[in-house]
Amino acid sequence: MHLRRSAAVMAFALCSTMLAPLPAQAAADATTAAAPAAAEVPSSLPRTARPTHYTIAITPDAKALTFKGTFAIDVEVLANAPAIVVNADQLAIGAARLVPAKGDAMPLTVTLDKAAQTATFTPAAMPGPAVIAPGLYRLEGSYTGLIDTQASGLFALDYKDADGKDNRALFTQFEAPFARRFAPMFDEPSFKATFDLSATVPVGQMAIGNLPIASETPAGPGLKTVTFGTSPKMSSYLLFFGTGDFERIAKPAAPGVEAGIVSPRGSGEQARFALDELANLIPFYTDYFGQPFPLPKIDTVAGPGESQTFGAMENWGAIFTFARGLLDDPANTTPVRRRYIATTQAHETAHQWFGDLVTMAWWDDLWLNEGFASWMETKATDHFHPDWFPLLDRVEGREQAMGLDAYRTTHPIVQKIRTVEETNQAFDSITYEKGEAVISMLEAYAGEDVWRSGLRAYMAEHKFANSHTMDLWRAVEQAGAKGLTNIALDFTTQPGIPLVRVAAAKCAAGRTTLTLTQEEFTRDRIGQPSAMRWRVPLLVASGTGSPVRTIMANGRATVSVGGCGPVVINAGQLGYYRSLYTPRMAARLAKALPALKPIDQLGLLADQMELSEAGYQPMAAGLAFLGAVPVDANPLVASEAIGQFNDLYDRAGENKAAKAAVAARAIAAWKPRLDTLGFAPRKDESLAFASLRSALIAVLGKMGEPGVVAEARRQFALLDANPRAMDGPLKTVWQRVIARKADPAAWTKLEKLAEAATASSERADLFTLLAAAEDPALSQKALDLSLTTIPGATTSATMIAQVSYHNTPQAFDFFLANTDKIYSLVDGAGRGRYLGRITHEADTQAMVAKLTAYAATLDPDLRVQIERSLSAIRDRLATNPRIVRETQAWLKAK
Ligand SMILES: [Zn+2]
Repeated sequence: MHLRRSAAVMAFALCSTMLAPLPAQAAADATTAAAPAAAEVPSSLPRTARPTHYTIAITPDAKALTFKGTFAIDVEVLANAPAIVVNADQLAIGAARLVPAKGDAMPLTVTLDKAAQTATFTPAAMPGPAVIAPGLYRLEGSYTGLIDTQASGLFALDYKDADGKDNRALFTQFEAPFARRFAPMFDEPSFKATFDLSATVPVGQMAIGNLPIASETPAGPGLKTVTFGTSPKMSSYLLFFGTGDFERIAKPAAPGVEAGIVSPRGSGEQARFALDELANLIPFYTDYFGQPFPLPKIDTVAGPGESQTFGAMENWGAIFTFARGLLDDPANTTPVRRRYIATTQAHETAHQWFGDLVTMAWWDDLWLNEGFASWMETKATDHFHPDWFPLLDRVEGREQAMGLDAYRTTHPIVQKIRTVEETNQAFDSITYEKGEAVISMLEAYAGEDVWRSGLRAYMAEHKFANSHTMDLWRAVEQAGAKGLTNIALDFTTQPGIPLVRVAAAKCAAGRTTLTLTQEEFTRDRIGQPSAMRWRVPLLVASGTGSPVRTIMANGRATVSVGGCGPVVINAGQLGYYRSLYTPRMAARLAKALPALKPIDQLGLLADQMELSEAGYQPMAAGLAFLGAVPVDANPLVASEAIGQFNDLYDRAGENKAAKAAVAARAIAAWKPRLDTLGFAPRKDESLAFASLRSALIAVLGKMGEPGVVAEARRQFALLDANPRAMDGPLKTVWQRVIARKADPAAWTKLEKLAEAATASSERADLFTLLAAAEDPALSQKALDLSLTTIPGATTSATMIAQVSYHNTPQAFDFFLANTDKIYSLVDGAGRGRYLGRITHEADTQAMVAKLTAYAATLDPDLRVQIERSLSAIRDRLATNPRIVRETQAWLKAK
């Protein structure tokens, strides 16, 4: 799954429902014939039976938002059992029976357990002791279910079609536990089986499944029954079904494999960019993993609208992606979103192997899917688009992970998952970004070739089956990466961030000798002793001489490198740790920054600013790095610098003089770069430069730089004569400059544009912009508008979150007054994360008190998210006065 994210220019971010406690690890039934590993896998279901094949047929009633279905599950009963228990949620199950391979069918009684999300099938009136003997059976019956309006289970998305008419399409979203809302299933990743799916839909609609259509037959007036080919053995959460008024473009991707993009009819060529990306990825991954793609086709299906939780989902052979992250609309797709289209395809396609072909045995190892797909996404993007500098982006991922990992409320990469809500919340920055960061570090330790041959062996051994984290370490270590397992275990089973401190540095005879010590980097326990220790692979480089590799064990290391110049102790920035230098070394490094590699410039800037903000060193130490970034820096380094200024500007809060001083420096330092780039996009420029232009316009516009503001107003005025005058990749960027500072007239003009827009992405963008207005009266208007039917069922929650970014108290009060209604607009997996998202940016004591009181009313699973927000808010309250004071002093001195 690809998470929703927040970015400066493009708001793509994260978000739940049932709290179904799983029974304590089902007593592993010693009689199960399953592989030994299976006995260790937690399960909410008795391990006395397992599925081998499903035949599911459904008939949706899109208008009534209901569906009916029949199921037949081929089951192997492994031990005497009183009943067969499967997962079912929000289903009504009618008559059911159990048909043995030999003998007579047994009628069954069904008992539903709403809290456990299970259906128990018990033989009715059996003669003798009520027990199902080991053997092969078919469990079959009929049922009805519900179609949701948010992305969980079978769900509907409403949109305006190319003619501006209201239309409705159906899709499915099953990760994590929502396949049980589609049909009774053994809905856990270790219960792999084959699937035959068929659906009865209107004749004029296209139906999409994991496999191509095997047969199509008339099914009464205006209806047809579509049956898809039999799937390979796979986990239930990867099953997919979609139907609607779609069109499909396709091209060959590899021998015997066709790539396709399915989108609402009328999308035309907007799907071409994504199709080319998708088709290229299949041979790339086939080669990397050493396994062919096992299905005859791979589609990506575009859904109009959005989710508060995710952007895309890796259903095998039928990836689902929200249209705004898939269709390249020349009228409004920003450079950042265009990049997102490519990276999302790269992420979901990597899952076709890592996740779909080989699947984690249980959600504890979710990171195996997500950390890996994130890491692979970057690798593939670097292969196809090196001019976007994707490898530099790993620093941003590292910083995002560390932003959560520095607080006591974090968790290890490999974590204990026992409840449905815990599963939902496992989709976070630790699982994705820390996962990617740690994998990058381990690949660097193993070496690219050894790492890859380890992965190939792992794929070959576990294909069409399940695996554990340890299986992977074993494979890579066997391929030649000695000692890797111990390092990997330190970083995946322990939470937190190592801090490597240079305790002493000496230069003698042309060599520098460093004495390094280790602590834990933290934002909320500074000065408290920590018992945490990691074996840390270090790469130390000086200006001259070759870099030196070593492992820091037992919290100490001594390293000697050639030369007496500045030294980087995380050269290449692939280590997951912070580097604290002596004041003298830091000052020399800052001075040398323009001569360093872009990756080290970027990593050092982020790392040293964070150490300063946390209080490990004065602000001036980090700010020296910010001041040293050259104006012609690599576009990603420049974006980081402008992002740091933006952060300092926000931290100044209500202190207008402090804000003005930060803005003046940011403008003096970076407006010249925007002047060089120009306001207008250029043909043939790399997307990295186009993205930098967007970031500069967004941040300098927010700071009120007169030239940027005037240009935004000029363009916005053109809309009076021609509503399409702003069309292009910067439309949303310029409009955001206007929306932020909107007066009532500008706001009303934007509202009219939003209501008139028909393209689903553009419409959602415009309604979200209405919520970006800083004027509290206007953001209140946006909040009130959000709960009407006008913005569309999947945009409302985004609008409320958008208000929370600049006025958390207002958004949170609105949330408290309308909780049930708002939760009905957030998909089933997203409540906890949504709660975290709309509270995270608060910065007052009053909000601390309010959130603390609210947290006390919540179940522990949901409380975690508020506690994470509280950690960040308390930290800001404690550190902001010092950060602002020291920053002002630095600005004055320069
Ligand atoms: Zn994913």
